[in-house]
Amino acid sequence: MTDIQTRVLRGAAPAKMLHQAIDSAKQLYEDQNGSTPTLATLLVGNDAAALAYRSSIERTFKKVNLRHRKVELPATVSNQQLGDAIRALNIDPGINGILVLMPLPSHLDPHVVLETISPLKDVDGISPVNAGRLHLGLPSLRPSTPAGGLELLRYYGVDLNGANVAVVGRSNVVGRPLSTMLSHANATVTLCHSRTRGLSQHLRRAEIVCVAAGSPGLITGRMIRKGALVLDFGVNVNDQGKVVGDSDLASLEGIASAVTPTPGGTGPVTAMVLARNVLAAAFAQMEGTLDALQELEAMLRCPLPDISEFLDPIELQGEA
Ligand code: NAP
Repeated sequence: MTDIQTRVLRGAAPAKMLHQAIDSAKQLYEDQNGSTPTLATLLVGNDAAALAYRSSIERTFKKVNLRHRKVELPATVSNQQLGDAIRALNIDPGINGILVLMPLPSHLDPHVVLETISPLKDVDGISPVNAGRLHLGLPSLRPSTPAGGLELLRYYGVDLNGANVAVVGRSNVVGRPLSTMLSHANATVTLCHSRTRGLSQHLRRAEIVCVAAGSPGLITGRMIRKGALVLDFGVNVNDQGKVVGDSDLASLEGIASAVTPTPGGTGPVTAMVLARNVLAAAFAQMEGTLDALQELEAMLRCPLPDISEFLDPIELQGEA
């Protein structure tokens, strides 16, 4: 294979596409319900990463004209108080989605969040009900980061049917649900993690490498096959104070067929999918069941725009 021109898959265009779908669904919801869907973010303490994520949610929700209520608890709260705060949001009719910002202070148990949050308001799909329904292929609220990754691939015309995909990272919010979603989309998925032996051997078999490890520069050009697409979810601050992903973009140049940049790749799509999930949750609450998401899917799944990027879909590379 000759040298490859590596394409940079930016998130702005798929995020714009999602924005349009959100606008029309929001209008419909407001016509039917007379109120604007509202997300509550719950911040415990003042972790820098949690604050940064909340600011990006604030910007996105302003852009799409959905409401965002900031709820804050001191870092000293107990598990009981954290649970009480979530239960209060569960029964608050003015709140359609609840997102507890991570990481929590170390004395708190994240399971309290998963077990307490109402599945109908669980817009990051972390509760056992939503995670289980995703696994079973039933309508569910899906974690916005992996769902955003799939939207980005869809936008750029990547055909997942039968594709060999390696996912690096198995967390409950990114890697594991991503592997499930990819498998539902008929990809053949290898799920790697910190105990995986011979990581690059697994990666070299993959036409798509998805990475959500929180390890800057983990994926290099030497570890992947020529022509692979690298979808990077990592958000890290490097030694120079720069925000970087989990892949070493310089070394992927000329080897990967396409990469997502950090910042500006998966991040903007994640934020829009979160906004879409708040709308989906609001509609599902009107019906009182997650099953309502099945019919909503068509409305909230925007048609792909007829634009030049799309006319040139990414071709995956087969055998090495
Ligand atoms: P996490 O809970 O810390 O999970 C990291 C996963 O990566 C774990 O499964 C871990 O394996 C694996 N891992 C870590 N180092 C590895 C290595 N050297 N080789 C192979 N696997 C390795 O993190 P997370 O919440 O999933 O987040 C992952 C990254 O995505 C972070 O950088 C985070 O900031 C970012 N993120 C991005 C978005 C977005 O919208 N783009 C949203 C959420 C998170 P073990 O299971 O064996 O420990």
